[in-house]
Amino acid sequence: MPQALVLEEKGKLSLREINLNMPFGPHDVRIAIHTVGVCGSDVHYYTHGKIGPFVVKEPMVLGHEASGTIIEVGSAVSNLKKGDRVCMEPGIPDPNSLATKLGIYNVDPKVRFWATPPIHGCLTPEVVHPAKFTYQLPNHVTFGEGAMVEPFAIGMQAAYRAKIKPGDVALVQGAGPIGMMVALAALAGGCSKVIITDFAEPKLDLIGQYDAIIPINLSENNANKRIDHETKGWGCDLVFECSGSQRAIIQSPLFVCPGGAIILVGMPVEPAPVDIVSLQAKEVRIETVFRYANVYDRAINLIATGKVDLKPLISETFAFKDSIAAFDRAVEQRPTDIKLQIVF
Ligand code: ZN
Repeated sequence: MPQALVLEEKGKLSLREINLNMPFGPHDVRIAIHTVGVCGSDVHYYTHGKIGPFVVKEPMVLGHEASGTIIEVGSAVSNLKKGDRVCMEPGIPDPNSLATKLGIYNVDPKVRFWATPPIHGCLTPEVVHPAKFTYQLPNHVTFGEGAMVEPFAIGMQAAYRAKIKPGDVALVQGAGPIGMMVALAALAGGCSKVIITDFAEPKLDLIGQYDAIIPINLSENNANKRIDHETKGWGCDLVFECSGSQRAIIQSPLFVCPGGAIILVGMPVEPAPVDIVSLQAKEVRIETVFRYANVYDRAINLIATGKVDLKPLISETFAFKDSIAAFDRAVEQRPTDIKLQIVF
């Protein structure tokens, strides 16, 4: 039986053998896992035992941001071969569902998503995955970057949903890993500049090193004025809400320009009240984002051409045997940590 990082129950992790029962079909590939990113959702299951309606009732293997090497291909697989370096989309939709037919498989109620109860994740040495949702990495793209494609895909989805026009000015609220991914995807998607706000200076310093990203610390008393100044008082074409904080959600209509859009990416724990009239008075378009669909190839293209560099966001790597330490470090939420990764 393989070893895996198992969430036994809320607050209790163990590295142990577990029977994963992974049938191998003609359209599947077997992958030796190389790198797995520690995601906020994994950490949330660890600390809270649930996310919304998804409750951990039985031991579950964590991890969904993965890259690795193909070690076996199914008889019907033609696009991949043994030895290919790949990354994987963690959500496997039902091929027969209406959502899949419509191209919106991210909102398929029947999707099987790694490390979302009751589906096991990929923090284990080998996984079986559909070839259709396994993507080859160009030679110069590292396994670390490969494991960053998953969180970057959320940024890509946000950029799609925003319907960016060349030259748009964007505001990203929240400089966590997802806020950073959204900021980089918004630039890649055509924004002329991206203002990003947070309270954590180390995060703002890091993302502020990228060209055309303007970090603003909300604890400064002239923060709102500075945002205003960046748009000559008109407001931002796009406001990407990535903090999930009630206060930020309520404030977002203030920063969007007339005719602009607010894209809700962060997930507030409690329902957030919104002033509808403040949205109507500007005819604000509202978009929501849940995971992603059909963005992996384009995400990899952007990384491969150097248009998007995710390497500075990888803060530290841990060996698989130190997975529990990696998770306990993630729980600390150090302001200098963006993405922690586990390497096999
Ligand atoms: Zn993730």
